Amino acid sequence: LRMVSSSPVGNEPVSDEELRPHVLDGFIGQPLLKAQLQLFLDAARKRDVPPDHILLAGPPGLGKTTLAMIVANELGVPIRVTSGPAIQHAGDLASILSSLEAGEVLFIDEIHRLPRAAEELLYIAMEDFRVDVMVGKGPGASSIPLTLPRFTVIGATTREGMLPSPLRARFGFTAHLDFYPHDELEKLITRSAAVLGLPLDDGSAAQLARRSRGTPRIANRLLRRVRDWAVVHELDTVEPDDVVEALALYQIDTEGLDRLDIAVLNAIVTNFNGGPVGVNNLAAMVGEESETVETVCEPYLVREGFMVRTPRGRVATRKAWDHLGLTPPDGAGA
Ligand code: ATP
Repeated sequence: LRMVSSSPVGNEPVSDEELRPHVLDGFIGQPLLKAQLQLFLDAARKRDVPPDHILLAGPPGLGKTTLAMIVANELGVPIRVTSGPAIQHAGDLASILSSLEAGEVLFIDEIHRLPRAAEELLYIAMEDFRVDVMVGKGPGASSIPLTLPRFTVIGATTREGMLPSPLRARFGFTAHLDFYPHDELEKLITRSAAVLGLPLDDGSAAQLARRSRGTPRIANRLLRRVRDWAVVHELDTVEPDDVVEALALYQIDTEGLDRLDIAVLNAIVTNFNGGPVGVNNLAAMVGEESETVETVCEPYLVREGFMVRTPRGRVATRKAWDHLGLTPPDGAGA
């Protein structure tokens, strides 16, 4: 179980609900995206038609599902939720599409993982509001075109580049979500603490924000662990030192690095003299899958300037040596 994973862990999807804002105003940060979306929704409401299809792109845990729900709520329409991997056959999608109400929002998470045949069905439905339903089997089978009411697809993807261009072209608006700066995370944490009824002082929100990897889902998860700490220690207010101690228990350090991140940096620095080292060697050294090191640790380590990727492999930066309390030998590292 990784506290700093940006994907949901355990029963989190359920506990996420209570912390989800329901209107665009309550969505914290991402000012440009909010302004764009506001205009988009206002125009649809004025014209009294369902808005164009929307694509939400960005790393996990930044609020794509939350935004989709806000859009449906702001439009006052129902939302149907599915995902690329949940749709195994084109027929699964056809039956969802043919049961949509007028104006309904169809949210498709991980839309880049739809099977090819479903993808084709989807972009015809998005463009022409029509789906061909297959009737019968074998040589006698025929397809009957079914006209659909107008609806809005909201697709979410962590891998925009993997969407085939015909599908991508069907979206009237693509929103890119980015990691949240500390001040926005602080606001988010303060809001969540209020929802949870947790008395948190400003310094504590700042300590949490620093450790949250720019990701609301991680911020909310760390906040819940701090709440556990506050409950057990019967605290009246949560001071910054409480945050430090509570999260140290989960082996999360001041920069939001956890045990695995530190193991990776340590391996580069002590086993490979700062690098460069290939990801497979590195993964073997820390006893993890290469995929985990590549998708979970590296993006954050690179973004925060602890590591750089070079054509010859991964290299630890000066900041990494400093963070580990070590001195790089001359010429080592980046
Ligand atoms: P995934 O791509 O993995 O589905 P996601 O981007 O859809 O992730 P959400 O489930 O929407 O992420 O958000 C995770 C948690 O963070 C939720 O509890 C949500 O309420 C909260 N959250 C995300 N973004 C914001 C925000 N801008 N303001 C307030 N809360 C937010």
